[in-house]
Amino acid sequence: MELIDKLEVLADAAKYDVACTSSGIDRDAQKGKLGNTMAAGCCHSFAADGRCITLLKVLMTNVCVYDCAYCVNRCSNEVKRAAFTPRELADLTIAFYRRNYIEGLFLSSGVIKNPDYTTELMIQTLSLLRNEHGFRGYIHAKAVPGTSPELVDELGHLADRMSVNMELPSQKSLALLAPEKDKQRILAPMRQIRDNIAVDKDTRALVRKQTTYMKQVRPKKKERAFVPAGQSTQMIVGASPESDFQILNLSAALYRTLSLKRVFFSAYTPVNDDARLPGTDAVQLNREHRLYQADWLLRFYRFDVAEIIDEEHPFLDPEVDPKANWALNHLDFFPVEVNKAPLEALLRVPGIGVKGAHSIVRARRTTALGERELRRLGVAYKRARFFITCNGKYAGQGADFSREGLRAHLAVPTKGGNHGRRADKTCPGQMSLFESVETPEKARIAGGGAGSGRSLSEADRARLGDGTDGREGASAAPAQRRAGGTGRPAADGVFGWQRALEQPEAVPA
Ligand code: SF4
Repeated sequence: MELIDKLEVLADAAKYDVACTSSGIDRDAQKGKLGNTMAAGCCHSFAADGRCITLLKVLMTNVCVYDCAYCVNRCSNEVKRAAFTPRELADLTIAFYRRNYIEGLFLSSGVIKNPDYTTELMIQTLSLLRNEHGFRGYIHAKAVPGTSPELVDELGHLADRMSVNMELPSQKSLALLAPEKDKQRILAPMRQIRDNIAVDKDTRALVRKQTTYMKQVRPKKKERAFVPAGQSTQMIVGASPESDFQILNLSAALYRTLSLKRVFFSAYTPVNDDARLPGTDAVQLNREHRLYQADWLLRFYRFDVAEIIDEEHPFLDPEVDPKANWALNHLDFFPVEVNKAPLEALLRVPGIGVKGAHSIVRARRTTALGERELRRLGVAYKRARFFITCNGKYAGQGADFSREGLRAHLAVPTKGGNHGRRADKTCPGQMSLFESVETPEKARIAGGGAGSGRSLSEADRARLGDGTDGREGASAAPAQRRAGGTGRPAADGVFGWQRALEQPEAVPA
């Protein structure tokens, strides 16, 4: 199979994996080496549904010996199969990097033969990139559950970020939909990555202090840091009956116990006809979106999961974002005086973000803040005004200060900007690496037509194949996922995953 055909197959097969985002670390360019990476993110562009689009996101292979019900690459599916050799993928990455198509690599894989064999292929690829090509760009690598600890360690010294997919939020769902996986085999590498990161950081700190002991044990050759950008995971939402309550509690436990950088949620995409899966193709991106909003409240707004959701109302409100929902349930907390309230109180106001809250605290040292100043500081005043006073004057005059009255204002989706509903903005259909988004503006310029994109043209193929320069090509286009949550109550009540997380080290089966 031609390399370009492999790329089409394996980039397309990787599009369901959402666990990637900006790089999260700084690394300067170095003489004689290629590439650099910035904490601001190697992914400069994000698709309409929030996905990054400048990593080369591929599978090592879509050959897989496992049979996960929800996966297009499962062994029982008859799909076109392909596999890169390590050298092919390393050379391809460098070629794309030099053309400025990409700024890093997101490498995942189906399980070919067994987890160890698969990981060895990934290690060989990354070794070629790091050691032969001197590539210093961002690399995110997936760890396959069940891989030997030595190989996880080796992979971790080559990648910037690693992730182990949790896939499903409960052991029961895992047993039903991904019978070859189990939570202990998933948690074991996650714990190992957490511990190795901590040890690596401590060791480096000691080396920097130049202690006599560290001078003796310090290796001659400087070793790469272990997973310097931390680890993340991904959960599929809607393929199994777990509630948002369960998913958010599990996320909070993951942040707490495994020091994860991110938990990614992926709205279930029906790709297989399987009786074990929900028989729906209803768009459920809004559920995923609400989970991300709640996740941000946990990580940046000092919320506790119990403040966001409870067992009696186990699903997030689809009409109102979780922060606004908290505000509506705690009207006695408001209004907050923006010129005096502590930072923690400002963070609770709908329409005031983390940056806005800090800006308010800084700005009010020198001036009294009113509507004009708040708008200038980036506060979404249209939402915030119902919950604040400015110098003692209530800013939401005319509104009925009751749960129902304010809900009517907050439940209205804001058009455009970052606040619009993604489900309303995304285009239908899953797109491949080589497709482009058809916008109304593009359609108008092209004289109309409602196509959803284009396939790889002969010209593109020739350009990629013959190595001539070009600016088109490897941009992963946004993918809209259709999802089907069932809204049924959770299958296994209390959280099996969480119990496992809180337990002492578990030995993989
Ligand atoms: S392990 Fe499961 S989810 Fe991963 S590629 Fe194989 S079948 Fe798909």
